Amino acid sequence: MFHRTLHLILCCLVASVSFAAGKPNVLIIVADDLGYNDVGFQGSKEIPTPNLDKLATQSVRCTSGYVSHPFCSPTRAGLLTGRYQHRFGHENNPAWLPEDTKQGLPLDQITLPQVLKQNGYTTGHVGKWHLGAHPQFHPLKRGFDENFTALGGGHLYFADGKGGEEYKIPLDRNGAKEPQQGYLTDQFGDEAAAFVQRHASGQPWFLYFAFNAPHTPLQAPEKWLAKFSAIQDPNRRTYAAMIAALDENVGKVLAQLDATQQRENTLITFISDNGGPHLAVKGKGMTNFTDNSPLRGAKGAVYDGGIRVPFLVSWPAKLKAGVYDQPVIALDFFSTAIALAGGQIPSDRKIDGVNLIPFLTGENKSAPHEVLFWRSQGPKGNYAARMGNWKFVRLGNAAPELYNLASDIGESKNLANEKPEELAKLEAAVAAWDKETIAPAFAGPQQGKAKGPKGKGKAK
Ligand code: CA
Repeated sequence: MFHRTLHLILCCLVASVSFAAGKPNVLIIVADDLGYNDVGFQGSKEIPTPNLDKLATQSVRCTSGYVSHPFCSPTRAGLLTGRYQHRFGHENNPAWLPEDTKQGLPLDQITLPQVLKQNGYTTGHVGKWHLGAHPQFHPLKRGFDENFTALGGGHLYFADGKGGEEYKIPLDRNGAKEPQQGYLTDQFGDEAAAFVQRHASGQPWFLYFAFNAPHTPLQAPEKWLAKFSAIQDPNRRTYAAMIAALDENVGKVLAQLDATQQRENTLITFISDNGGPHLAVKGKGMTNFTDNSPLRGAKGAVYDGGIRVPFLVSWPAKLKAGVYDQPVIALDFFSTAIALAGGQIPSDRKIDGVNLIPFLTGENKSAPHEVLFWRSQGPKGNYAARMGNWKFVRLGNAAPELYNLASDIGESKNLANEKPEELAKLEAAVAAWDKETIAPAFAGPQQGKAKGPKGKGKAK
């Protein structure tokens, strides 16, 4: 009897603590290599995305939403740490080298799931990892309670599809190898929905749901290919079909959130990890099967086409849907999620992300960031910065460029000569920021250059 009473009291205590805290769940959804204009809510007429469009109607859509790198792994390193990845040398993609202890998210970096775990969250990762092949970098070692992942930089979509070695490694479920089944995007969608259902009651949860779609290799199921039969270019047709499959699987997860009454108090973010790629195909020249319009450039570039992405933040319990135009960056998800969890931002290091909620509610009218920074291919590589509507670009040793994004979103008119004061201000800000960074800690398989559309096993 005593035990039963104690059990009842404990249950009540747990229930009341959980209710009183009301901590929201956190769902970060990442698409891979999705073009800026390749979803309905960004304006695409060619690729309908009804589920993402519905999410957009329940979101704050950030029109100047950025990621911290123009390609895969560094963006993810920034997202999970809240810091410019240049502060810790993660400026390239790690090669698939399971014996290498250097190529991965450095172990002294504090990850978002680690902090959320300390604050009572169940943490899960479904999808593409790409933060190191050595077992020490495994998601379960970096703060996740559960994972179902492709550990490399990408994966075949069908088990019998064509692709390089890295893309054929078995999927990983909590440290054990598991073969893929059916179409990978569907499998990841099923796993994410199952996570949401499994943890519907009890502790709040964090799910990092990172599709490898629509990254190459271009492989899509027949049902979606048929839907896009009107698109002539076969690459574009397959790519559109892959996005439709991604959209359907986002819908699966949203439906599960609704069915389990969790939608209201779940923070959902949606981004792409970089711009859509423009790829060189042997014997065919460049193929632009992605659409980053109206932006300049593509994946790999520090022009906005490489770094400015579809960007949604949804939290029905607290955030009114709408549009937000001040520059924000995926680094902000770290601080935002920790604030919602009632946790402490690590104080022993510089965290670059900020809690977006006061800005998105309108409570704080100032800009979340005075300046945003980018650097690709190391200190001798390409730099960019955005301060208000001014965009600074410097490619290697070339003369710096300056654009006014308010009147010239496509970065077509270089104002460096007309606006020397603005240029100098941005150049000084970049130089100061650069001093806080280090050189890349590893070169990566391609020294950070976008390359290889199909089956090379090394694409991002
Ligand atoms: Ca990518």
